Amino acid sequence: MAATDCLFCKIVTGEVPAEIVRKGERTVAFRDINPQAPTHILVIPREHYADAGEAARAGTGVVDDIARDAAEVAAAEGIAGTGYRLVFNTGSGAGQTVFHVHAHLLGGRGLEWPPG
Ligand code: 5GP
Repeated sequence: MAATDCLFCKIVTGEVPAEIVRKGERTVAFRDINPQAPTHILVIPREHYADAGEAARAGTGVVDDIARDAAEVAAAEGIAGTGYRLVFNTGSGAGQTVFHVHAHLLGGRGLEWPPG
């Protein structure tokens, strides 16, 4: 169910425009407005969950859907072979600013570890 005043729910419905790269049955993938890598795409479930833990606890398999669909997007973007990073910032202390779970799909450049 969509949450009122959720930016990413509005991207799912089309109320807020985004550069969508993949529309799946259960997920939508779109380019981050402030990219941190040559490829920086957000993969989100159509349903509203605040974060990855809440989505996993729902027991619907939606976190699997996010990871699988992100892999498809990575392949389509040509970064599956070189590798990519999938990140769920969870909680404001970890940098989460939008509380509709999203995986950051990052690639197209060397990625340092540990992350900042
Ligand atoms: P977080 O900080 O919650 O892990 O990630 C939220 C991400 O959403 C940020 O990387 C930010 O750039 C991106 N973002 C915020 N607002 C918008 C928007 O309106 N459109 C798009 N495409 N990305 C957004």
